Amino acid sequence: MSDNELKLELIIKEIINAHIPLSEKAKNLVFGKGNAYASIMFIGEAAGKNEDEQGFPFVGAAGKNLDKLLEKVGLSMNDVYIANILKYRPPENRPPSQEEIKIHTPYLLKQIEVIQPKVICSLGNYATKFFLAGCNAEMMDKQPGITQVHGKVRTISLDGRDVKLIPLFHPAAIIYNRSLLGEWEKDIEIVKGELGQKKLF
Ligand code: URA
Repeated sequence: MSDNELKLELIIKEIINAHIPLSEKAKNLVFGKGNAYASIMFIGEAAGKNEDEQGFPFVGAAGKNLDKLLEKVGLSMNDVYIANILKYRPPENRPPSQEEIKIHTPYLLKQIEVIQPKVICSLGNYATKFFLAGCNAEMMDKQPGITQVHGKVRTISLDGRDVKLIPLFHPAAIIYNRSLLGEWEKDIEIVKGELGQKKLF
C-alpha cells in the first residue's frame, strides 16, 4: 500500500470508530475510490442503494454514466479519485440534512488533504454548495445552484492550499435530462484545460 492509501485507511478507521449518523442503518461505509494521488477529485452527494451494498461510490446507474462521461474525454478511474459529501447512504436516498453534512464532511476534507488534488469537480447541487459555502454547511442555502455555476472555475482555499473548484452537473441529472450532456461535455473540456491538458498526475 502506498503512503496515501495508508493515510486514507486511517481515516476509514476513524469514521468507523466514530459511529456517525446514518451508519446504523447503512450496510457499508462508502468512502471513496480511485487513485489516491489523483490531480482531480469528483465529489458527489451520497451513496444510493448499489453504493451502500458494494461500499464504493458511483457504482450504480449514475456511476455507469459517470464512467461513460469520463471515458469519452479520455479519463479513467486511474486518473481520478471519487468521493461523496456523505459517507453513508441516507435512508430511501433522501437528501442529506444540514446536521449530517456537518458531521460527515470533516472526513471528506481530511480525504482531500491526503490526496491534494489540483482540481475538485463538485457533482450537482449539494457538493457544489458545500464548497461555495466555504465548507460551512450552514451557509449552503445561500449559495447559487448548479445551473448558474456549472463550468465556472474558481479558486478555493482548503487547508491553506489553493484548489480549482469546477462545478459540474450530476451524472444522474444527465441520465434524466439528455440536454445537459452537451453542457457537461463543454464543462469537462474546461476541467481538462485546468489540469494542464493530458498530464493528470
Ligand atoms: N450519487 C452520488 O452522488 N454519489 C454516489 O455515490 C452515487 C450516486
